[in-house]
Amino acid sequence: MIDLRSDTITRPTPKMLEAMMNAKVGDDVFGEDETVNVFQDKVAKMFGMESGLFVPSGTMGNQLAVKVLTEPGDEILIDHKGHIFNYETGAASALSGVQVRILDGKNGKLGIPVLQHAKRGNFDWEPKTKVICLENSTNKGGGVCYSKEELSAIKTFADKEDLRIHLDGARIWNAMTATNINPGFFGEVSDTISVCFSKGLGAPVGSMLLSSKERIAKARRYRKMWGGGMRQVGLLAAAADYALENNWDNLSEDHRRAKEVAQVIFDSKSLAVDMSNLQTNILLFDAVNETAESVLKKLAEKGIQMIPFGPKTIRATFHFEITDEDVEQVKAALAEIGK
Ligand SMILES: *Cc1c(COP(=O)(O)O)cnc(C)c1O
Repeated sequence: MIDLRSDTITRPTPKMLEAMMNAKVGDDVFGEDETVNVFQDKVAKMFGMESGLFVPSGTMGNQLAVKVLTEPGDEILIDHKGHIFNYETGAASALSGVQVRILDGKNGKLGIPVLQHAKRGNFDWEPKTKVICLENSTNKGGGVCYSKEELSAIKTFADKEDLRIHLDGARIWNAMTATNINPGFFGEVSDTISVCFSKGLGAPVGSMLLSSKERIAKARRYRKMWGGGMRQVGLLAAAADYALENNWDNLSEDHRRAKEVAQVIFDSKSLAVDMSNLQTNILLFDAVNETAESVLKKLAEKGIQMIPFGPKTIRATFHFEITDEDVEQVKAALAEIGK
């Protein structure tokens, strides 16, 4: 099977397992795991943040950010395609008691007009808007990235309106590869950032929340409360560190392969893709005359797996287990289906 359902399906390589076996570990609930301590400092420093907190999932990183940036009854702003709104089981309402206000951005991205429109007055009867949640690259938005200018404008707006910015950087590595923006810049425009090592970088488990010392200390308590305090977690941090050191450079290959496949879809008659939105490893395309399910079935018969992202829309996500030979097979299959 050629599995393009997600970039989370990759398995640890022998070298990654070796890095895990050699990790110096201790009890991280006691703060004694050397590997995770060093790794947290390293990633925090990379993004120009004071502290980092290793967490089991991107969802926990995002939810801890919402928790430490809000009080119950506050409001957070997010694009209607945002992961925090769509794919985190309503956790922001359940765990932080906040109201999630969805806005109508483009390809999962928010811009100034939409944010300005969402701005509230300062009345006793209105919720307090506290946080702007951004996603980079966007998932449901098709892997598109913010430009430096867009982020700077949002940061200026947030400062003026006294709002915090949380950046969901599950695929920030892909975004950096595509846009050449350095990590320090993301630290400058965000109050909290969550990053994942378990997506395209290929670690088996692991994400990190980055922020100020004070917020991370608070998040550490909630991580424990929510059952995310881990013991010899250096095993996982070693895998994540290996992924960061060795697999980041290869993301550009995933992006190239996504573009190659997209070109075949673009050239076909009965499949459609917006090439201008294709920036990273996520490829969204549409069936023109049939349903997504019917195209997926034909692909499955040819040994190719993708996932539906709407009645007509399909998502293919590229990752390091997909080779150039696989790509040729996928191109041939799509050319046949789309002819
Ligand atoms: C995958 C993802 C997450 C986190 O997912 P987990 O499965 O909880 O690690 C968060 N945000 C975005 C945009 C994602 O794609």
